[in-house]
Formats: sequence, structure tokens, C-alpha cells
Amino acid sequence: MFDSKNVADGPISSGCTVVLGMGGTIAGRATQVGDRVGYVAGQVPVNDLLLGIPTAQGLRVESEQVAQIDSKDMGHRHWLALAERVAHHLARQDVDAVVITHGTDTAEETAFFLQSVLRPSKPVVIACAMRPVTALVPDGPQNLSDAFSVAQHPGAHGVVLVCAGWIHAAHDVAKVHTTDLNAFDSGDAGALGRVMQHRVSCFRSWPQEGLAIDAQAAMAQLRSAERWPRVEVVVSHTDNDGALVKALLAQQALGAYALDGLVVAGTGNGTIHEGLQAALLEAQAQGVKVLVSSRCARGHVRQAPGDWPEGTDLSPVKARVALTLALLGLSD
Ligand code: ASP
Repeated sequence: MFDSKNVADGPISSGCTVVLGMGGTIAGRATQVGDRVGYVAGQVPVNDLLLGIPTAQGLRVESEQVAQIDSKDMGHRHWLALAERVAHHLARQDVDAVVITHGTDTAEETAFFLQSVLRPSKPVVIACAMRPVTALVPDGPQNLSDAFSVAQHPGAHGVVLVCAGWIHAAHDVAKVHTTDLNAFDSGDAGALGRVMQHRVSCFRSWPQEGLAIDAQAAMAQLRSAERWPRVEVVVSHTDNDGALVKALLAQQALGAYALDGLVVAGTGNGTIHEGLQAALLEAQAQGVKVLVSSRCARGHVRQAPGDWPEGTDLSPVKARVALTLALLGLSD
């Protein structure tokens, strides 16, 4: 168990928060102090990240290293391991919340995945950073401290991401800046709230969607899957003749792998170049599920064009997670 020694202002707690380490820049280290670009993500053990972080009076903190990677390399094996540990700790009566330290690059996908499969009634807060531990002024410690404050907030539940004092819901959050400390945005939905000096202010009510799910059954289903479906993302753009989709179908025909789904990042309101459209129709005719999203940063695909069963309000990368889970039999 980790003993923080630093006590934050705010409510007194008698519970336990479990911190799961996944790596990322928040655990990154550079050989040269102050280097903000030439560092390696996922170096510092999660237990060390907690040193000196203030937590609520009486709060017990436990930590566990689940992975230690740059989140650009995240895969479903990491997600399965993480979801198992999150589900395990949330099922403990003495645990109030789980905090996850994670890289920023794919944090939105992990947040959406965990929310979809676990729908936690307790808070699961993802903390990240844009500067490594060795930066002259790292942002990780503040973000981690903020994550503890959000985890202790009465009424907080489900998976959220905290960065630069902003609280984002799993469904809406996206990384929108390559280097800024405030790298995330929640699009039209807006952030859930802010956290400052251990106090949380909410701008809208905490999302209630689908709280009733049997997380243990969902985990059993994920665990027993022989393989996770292959779902690729293709982008509609000028001069798109569908060559990538045709190449994928050709590989499938050779038996190189099974292609199960395609997410299209369409233009505007889900429109698709006629060349790509023809290749997608061919894929659909061969049994590949097609889901239409938009490459626009904001707005929903209100109506999928003609030949496609559905559009989505999700970004292409989250639509890929949603389609993967649907193909695994885990969907709303
Ligand atoms: N590449 C890093 C990661 O996602 C970036 C970060 O954490 O900010 O792990």
C-alpha cells in the first residue's frame, strides 16, 4: 500500500483508491533534464508517480503496474488486462474508485472501451500528462492530484479523463492538440467540469448512460473470445478509389486474416467518395460490417448515406472500438 503523507483539503475519506499504471508520458523520462520531446514514455513505476501527491485525509491508496508502455502501442491484450484489474478492484467493497495513469495518445480509446464494457457505478479516472517526469515543470503530478480529487467527488461515476484541470466523459473526449498541456476536448458535448484546488465544479450532469451492465459477464465474454475481430479504419478523401479496401479484401481472400469490420471516416455528414463507396459495398457484400463515421472533429453523422445501415456519433477511432465490441456480441 502507498502512504502519501500529504493530505489535501476537502472531504475526509475512509475508503481506498486503487491506482493502475499503464505507462505513457506521465511515466516518461528523458536523459536530458527539461527535454520535452526526446523522452521515452512508460519508464517510471506507478508507485513512484504517487510520491508527494496529496490525497484526501484518511484515504488509503494502493497501486499496481498493469503495463508500462507508450500508449501508441496499446492493444486489446493490454485492454483485457486493464479491464480485468479495474473490474476486480471495483468489485471490492473497500474500494471507492480507480485511477489509471495512461498515455495521452490513445487514452480516449481506452476510456471508451472501459466505459463500454464495465459501465462502472464507481468512478474510474484516467490521469495523463503531456510532459515527462523529467521536464522542468512536469504536468503529471498536478493531473494525478486532480484525478484523486475527481475520484473523491460525490456522485462521480463511470470512466472520465482528467487533464489540465478539465474533466471529460469517455464518450466525448478526444485528444485535439499534439503538444499543448490542455490537449483534450469534448466537442459539442463540452467538458463535464473542472477541477481546481481539489474542488470539482460540474458544467453538466454526470452521464447516466447504461449504468446497468453485468461487468463480470462482459469480462467473461471478452476473455473467452477466440480472437478479437479485425476492424480497420479507412478515410474518405479526394481521389479515393478504394484501393486500400480492395487490398484488404484481397488479403482476406488469400487467407492472410479475416476482415470483420470497416469504419469509414467519411467527409462531412458521413459522405463517401464514389470510388471508396464501391469498394465498401463489395466488402459489405462479402460479409464485412461497415460503420459510417465522420472525419470532422465536431458533429454527428445524422443519417448514414443510402447503402449503409447506420451512422454514428462516435469519432472514427471510438467507432472502431464500438464495432469491435458489437462483433464480439457486446453492444447496447
Ligand atoms: N506517446 C505518449 C503516450 O501516449 C504520449 C503521452 O502520453 O502524452 O504514451
